[in-house]
Amino acid sequence: VKKMAKKWEKLSHPIKQAAVLGAGIMGGGIAYQAASKGTPIVMKDIRDEALALGMGEATKLLANQVEKGRLTPVKMGETLSRIRPTLNYGDFKEVDIVIEAVVELEKVKAAVLSEVETLVHDNTILASNTSTISITSLAKNLKRPENFVGMHFFNPVHMMPLVEVIRGEKSSDQAIATTVALAQKMGKVPVVVNDCPGFLVNRVLFPYFGAFDLLVKDGADFQQIDKVMEKFGWPMGPAYLIDVVGIDTGVHGADVMAAGFPDRMKPDYKGSIQVMYENKRLGQKNDKGFYVYV
Ligand code: NAD
Repeated sequence: VKKMAKKWEKLSHPIKQAAVLGAGIMGGGIAYQAASKGTPIVMKDIRDEALALGMGEATKLLANQVEKGRLTPVKMGETLSRIRPTLNYGDFKEVDIVIEAVVELEKVKAAVLSEVETLVHDNTILASNTSTISITSLAKNLKRPENFVGMHFFNPVHMMPLVEVIRGEKSSDQAIATTVALAQKMGKVPVVVNDCPGFLVNRVLFPYFGAFDLLVKDGADFQQIDKVMEKFGWPMGPAYLIDVVGIDTGVHGADVMAAGFPDRMKPDYKGSIQVMYENKRLGQKNDKGFYVYV
């Protein structure tokens, strides 16, 4: 294992400057985590409010650390200054890796990735934080698919140790090794997984949400399911979890899983998560999902 680790370490390129596309739940968390562990990061969104929210979250998390005496106000300022929020691509020529964290729709991601590929230098790694979409499929229209990998963080980024590093059909060893090294530098535990819709964790999690939907369809009360799962020992139940994830993100991901595994993951009824989505209840991001947050 040590020999392998050495070989991989040699393959990796140092990441001096990173960028994240999207300042939402995940993009904001990724920017905070990178900056906290010393990597400067450009955070780009198309909405000013998203940038303000992303910076606001980072500030809150850091202020909390200062309050607990774990960080000095000076260090807090230094960390915040490592995050550069922007609405335009400005200095993307300088970045060594771009982590894409926009909406979970293949068309949008493919367009954003193709656009950013023309703006970075030839060695820049492009990584997608997609929850479910195949990396090989997302790489189809890229000119340098060897530089493209999956880098799947979990929510909330600052608390969840795991990062899935996904090897697409054409991802190079160097791109994988560099992404693994960055995940480690960010204080995470990377696991390299093969490509398929949902990768590893969401191959487990989406059937779990499906089972939850079936229980609700059979007449169970979602709050009771949550309470029982908490007593079972899980940090939260499925209804609360999907509110945290974002119901839109959950529905888009479920569509990808249904298309990828039609025999196993395509429900023949409309589940409660879909009903929430149709009623524009997106979870914590718009203050109402299964629960109401005020
Ligand atoms: P979100 O809705 O909170 O944020 C998405 C952000 O992307 C928004 O701020 C939006 O303005 C921005 N955006 C849209 N188009 C853009 C563009 N062209 N350029 C720059 N920014 C753009 O969504 P999220 O929960 O952060 O999810 C983002 C990605 O992370 C998705 O692929 C999702 O599947 C994945 N993911 C989500 C979770 C989770 O629990 N929410 C966990 C792991 C992975």
